[in-house]
Amino acid sequence: MTPTERTRTYWLEHAWLGTHVEPGVAVDVADGRITAVHQDTPAPPPGAEILRGLTLPGLANAHSHAFHRALRGTVQVGSGTFWTWREVMYSVADRLTPDTYLDLARAVYAEMALAGITAVGEFHYVHHAHGGTPYADPNAMGEALIEAAAEAGIRITLLDTCYLSAGFGEPPNAHQRRFSDGTADAWAQRSSLLKERDHARIGAAIHSVRAVPAEQLATVAQWAAERRAPLHVHLSEQTAENDACRRAHGRTPTRLLADHGVLGERTTGVHNTHLTDEDVALLGGSRTGTCMCPTTERDLADGIGPATALQRAGSPLSLGSDSHAVVDLLEEARAMELNERLRTRTRGHWTAAALLRAATADGHAALGWDDTGRIETGARADLATVALDSVRTAGPLPRLGAETAVFAATAADVRHTIVGGRHVVRDGVHTLVPEVPRSLGRAVEALRA
Ligand SMILES: [Zn+2]
Repeated sequence: MTPTERTRTYWLEHAWLGTHVEPGVAVDVADGRITAVHQDTPAPPPGAEILRGLTLPGLANAHSHAFHRALRGTVQVGSGTFWTWREVMYSVADRLTPDTYLDLARAVYAEMALAGITAVGEFHYVHHAHGGTPYADPNAMGEALIEAAAEAGIRITLLDTCYLSAGFGEPPNAHQRRFSDGTADAWAQRSSLLKERDHARIGAAIHSVRAVPAEQLATVAQWAAERRAPLHVHLSEQTAENDACRRAHGRTPTRLLADHGVLGERTTGVHNTHLTDEDVALLGGSRTGTCMCPTTERDLADGIGPATALQRAGSPLSLGSDSHAVVDLLEEARAMELNERLRTRTRGHWTAAALLRAATADGHAALGWDDTGRIETGARADLATVALDSVRTAGPLPRLGAETAVFAATAADVRHTIVGGRHVVRDGVHTLVPEVPRSLGRAVEALRA
């Protein structure tokens, strides 16, 4: 049979099968899914597409704010804190329109595809025009992001974010009016208009306990529960949030979320940095996930979250590039382990296999894509191939490919990215978005003051 768009065979020089590296694996794909995995295939079958290097399941970027990519470099001048960084971030948010956001997000998602990312969780809160006036299509901004992912060839879970207040009992400030629907009911009405597509899932997000009044948290949780949709929330990234929450409600943000029915298996706390032992037990006991964003957390001087304790307590881990200081899931994975080494002065908190699981299957599951992130029959054909012959990766034995990929490779070593059987990145070149660096440059330039 001649390979067509619908059926084809990939030959993987080395494949990561979840527990070990297997040499010589042929993967049959039909209608975007893996239909067979043939081990013991030392040579490519006739007509197969050859993927040299180590092929991993596609990577999941579980936490993204696409427009933060426009801050790269400029926010590294001077000193300050998370809160001063946020002022610069707001000035970029102020300038976004559906058109400029489409251009920027397409380029950012193309950068992600080049990094082996096959699905992104977009934590999206810039909903309205200036002053909070809805666009003619009230979801014009969210639709731009869904379209951007389609054009860049990756999956998206649009985590439509409820953002109503500047702080406990404080109305949104001038920047934040674009983010607010007024009430959680109005947020629910607007987000209910968003439709899922082949490449797009719709989920919900609570920006933080600062941004959604306690008595409205359950509205968002219920919206997500009714749809069995993922629900994400920024949680205890900053101690100031914890202090303000205790003043307003006499409890920690985690306890507040638990008391309003927000925690659970489809919920993911993002950052989970400054937690009490009780918080860790609440998150783990409810199987609430934890999305760590180590390159952003270090960039914003947030601190190091208790990821090992959370995982031990029962919280599955995922990874995100969040502010896109860099877009490199391999770096996120190793940073989680290396942060822990610096803190504890001991090595080996996670194996490369465990870190890859966070970057793949568990990350996809956190975004509601349960049937991808594994190279096995029935899974979606989402793959990322890392070169094992670059200046960074040459030398180690191929059976140590996972350790090499996680602890030495970078996004620049990703050679192929395949999403639903479609070759989105071939030999390091995006097949759908021409000249990604130039697209990024133009899109960021358009947002400069
Ligand atoms: Zn975030």
